[in-house]
Amino acid sequence: MNFILASGNAHKAEEFGILFKDSNVTVKAAPTKLEVVEDGTTYQENALKKAQAYYEEFKKPVLADDSGINVEALPDELGIFSARFGGEGLTDKQRAELLLEKLLDKEKREAFFTCVLCFYISPEEIYFFEGRMEGEISDSYVGDGGFGYDPVFCPKAFPNKTVAELEEWKNANSHRAKAVESAVKFFKEL
Ligand code: IMP
Repeated sequence: MNFILASGNAHKAEEFGILFKDSNVTVKAAPTKLEVVEDGTTYQENALKKAQAYYEEFKKPVLADDSGINVEALPDELGIFSARFGGEGLTDKQRAELLLEKLLDKEKREAFFTCVLCFYISPEEIYFFEGRMEGEISDSYVGDGGFGYDPVFCPKAFPNKTVAELEEWKNANSHRAKAVESAVKFFKEL
């Protein structure tokens, strides 16, 4: 099964390449990146919007991903708005540092990543899968692997390391890895 990826995020494309490596699903970058307004109220709605836009443009099966981080001490500030946290024009690093600043002196640091995958085969055949990764926001910005909020997120399994220091572990255990695992199992049995 061949899909084009509805994303211009090179890090996500790389992670998907690794995650689907031994499966019957192949994911290739889309010929061009489309600007899709992500104004849905859930990860699922946003993933569907991206998938529909790429399907309409390229007329090929599409894989879209919408993801983000929910931080318990800052309800409603991140989640589906994670990419815009702090306003437009910030770098990933600036957003992650802003998150640390907002949590300064906060005891409550629980957070989780969510990934929703939308496999848009045709308007009549659309499948969704979801994965989560739980943990806490770190005290400082550490590590240079991964992307986005990885350098400020410690997974439950490694409370003293950030995901940016655990690239190999992330590839097997992240929110994206878990969603992909469910999808691969499903497509194998289809
Ligand atoms: P989108 O899914 O491309 O709309 O972006 C979601 C936001 O969540 C971006 O700010 C990403 O940096 C962040 N994000 C999504 N997945 C991850 C991840 O695996 N690690 C770190 N940050 C992530």
